[in-house]
Amino acid sequence: MTTTDTQHSWESIDAIATAVRSCTACALHNGRTNAVSGSGSPTAGILIIGEGPGFNEDQQGLPFVGRSGKLLDELLAEVPLTRDDVFITNVVKCRPPDNRDPLPDEVAACRPYLQRQMELLDPRVIVTLGRHSLLRFYPEGKISKDHGKIFAWEGRILFPLYHPAAGLRNPAIKQELQQDVLRLPEALQESIRISVNQREPEEENEEQRNETDLQLVDSLSSQTAEAENAEAQLSEPILKNETTKEQGDRQLGMF
Ligand code: SF4
Repeated sequence: MTTTDTQHSWESIDAIATAVRSCTACALHNGRTNAVSGSGSPTAGILIIGEGPGFNEDQQGLPFVGRSGKLLDELLAEVPLTRDDVFITNVVKCRPPDNRDPLPDEVAACRPYLQRQMELLDPRVIVTLGRHSLLRFYPEGKISKDHGKIFAWEGRILFPLYHPAAGLRNPAIKQELQQDVLRLPEALQESIRISVNQREPEEENEEQRNETDLQLVDSLSSQTAEAENAEAQLSEPILKNETTKEQGDRQLGMF
């Protein structure tokens, strides 16, 4: 087994994706069709982190493209945000066989990629999806207790959510997801407050970023209020067949 420990100098998100595609640092490379480095805006203030690629993601080389991805898109739309407003990746970039949990040595081998993605993106808010992603940042966390809460974490905001796959299986969890995601503008606003009070501003750039993101928060807050009204009128769940287990979607990290 090789290691990624000495290869921290990727200079762009694209460079990380290139490295990931040819990575053999852990055994997961043996079974992959495509490595899934991540996708979205390289200037996104919101970084969404799932656990690992499932069947569909492995086939297409993109994160969250199955039914879980569809639910994630619909949840983002409630804020309202799109994939162009965020960056989405996973704790491990290659699919564990049979959708099993990634092993500790696999998570460790893949850690430098996520670490460097966080350095380059410098996200204000880290949204973890499911238990395993939460534990990467908050080892004492419990997803059933901590979902939808806003935590300060190393000058950023940590915002844990249930994994969308859990929402597909359990209508009550889907409702929690729908409610929790509406706090995303609040999480973003709190991250700006932290930035102003705690993080060293890179002078003009940071001020400009704060101003731009405050405008985004204002816009989201007003649109979220409209979304909440619309949500209150919904009589049907977002997706049908919640109890149907989807082949290939990750079913892990849910509780
Ligand atoms: S899971 Fe991460 S460390 Fe393992 S082979 Fe894939 S990219 Fe490399």
